[in-house]
Parts: sequence; C-alpha cells; structure tokens
Amino acid sequence: MADKTIKIAYLYEDLMNTYGDSGDVKIIRYLLKKQNYTTQIDNVSLGDPFNAFDYDFVFFGGGQDFEQTVVAKDLPRHKETLTDYINAGHPMLGVCGGYQLVGTYYKTIGGTTIKGLDILPFHTVFKADKRMIGDTHYTTQWGDVKAFENHSGQTYFDSQKLQPLGKMITGYGNNPQDGLEGLHYHNFIGTYSHGPILRNLNVANAIVKMVLDWHQERVAD
Ligand code: GLN
Repeated sequence: MADKTIKIAYLYEDLMNTYGDSGDVKIIRYLLKKQNYTTQIDNVSLGDPFNAFDYDFVFFGGGQDFEQTVVAKDLPRHKETLTDYINAGHPMLGVCGGYQLVGTYYKTIGGTTIKGLDILPFHTVFKADKRMIGDTHYTTQWGDVKAFENHSGQTYFDSQKLQPLGKMITGYGNNPQDGLEGLHYHNFIGTYSHGPILRNLNVANAIVKMVLDWHQERVAD
C-alpha cells in the first residue's frame, strides 16, 4: 500500500514563527489532506536530533533578532544534513529570519553578527535607512504573489548564480535597491513574505508538488 504519511520538519517551531508563519505548514497540511495524505509535523527544536532526509518538507519560519541569536547557536549541528538536502533538490521553505539563516550571516541592528548555515552565498545586514514593513506584491514563475513583509535585515546575493523568487511590484523584498524578492535554488525557496505566503495557492500548490515528488522517491528507497 502506498505510504500516505507526509513528514514535515518545522525547524524551531517554538522560536521561529512570526506573523502567522505556522500558517504555511497548516496550508500544506490542508492541501495534502485533500489528496488523502496525512501529515506528521515534528518541531525540531534546541538540542533535538535531526536528519533532513527523514522528511518530505522542511520549514523554517521567521523570528525576531533575539530568537535568531538563540537558534543560530544550535543550528551548526544541522549544517551538513541541510546542505546535502538542499543541494539534492529537496523541498524547503525559509521565511524571513529562517531564510536569512540559510545564508552566510545576518548583521543585526544591535551590531551583532549572527552566523548563518552558510549553505548559499548571500548575506543580510541592517542598514539605518529603513525597516521594510508593509504589503508586498511581486511576480514569480508561478504567477503573482501578495504578502506582507516586516524586517530590518537587507539581503544581498554574493553570487550572480543565485536566482530570486520574484520581482517586486510593491514593497521591498530582499532590499530597497534590487527590486528582487527572496531566493529560489533547486527546491529551496527563501522569502521575506509572511501572511502567510502560502495563502497564495499558486506557490502552495507548487510546493505540494515538490513535496509529493520527493516523498515518492524517499519512500521508494
Ligand atoms: N529579525 C529579522 C529582521 O528583522 C527577521 C524578521 C522576521 O523574521 N520577521 O530582519
């Protein structure tokens, strides 16, 4: 019988869940249920063992600078498994603080440099010019997305090979200069969009497809 249980790892759910980001996981669960899948959602928090390859989807939500500092101390344990998982093309969504921590570092308003996982070549810095807050609207390969952003970190790509998730119509996205939103690398999506972003069903359905494709492969092994 086909395995109908989808395993979702929610990284630091208790610490990284700003502005309704847990709604992203609920929407994925709802869309999977409509296809007769059940979901097991594990909160992988401080000190918990974690092998990304045990999961069909990894979610990493947004957080305040303080929570990011706490999480960043625990995170290096998972660098290898998440690097391999992302590079193998398996699905992961990182929102705001969770997106920032996949890059090399985030220098905060307080001047602290929070080390990221250093999986993809981008960095985030606070700049005094503005906090990026408000409604956003941008185009993606799956069509338009409408969401909400609230961050002080400005994200910059350090390699021309990185591709954004979208192009801004309204709002800031990665930073006030580039007109780009988020990052899309294999099946890793990084985004500044809360709202939650997956209320945009075009993106949610694209992720569900990635999740089901990887699930078939994972359970066949
Ligand atoms: N603390 C980070 C920033 O302000 C991320 C914010 C968030 O995740 N909402 O840039």
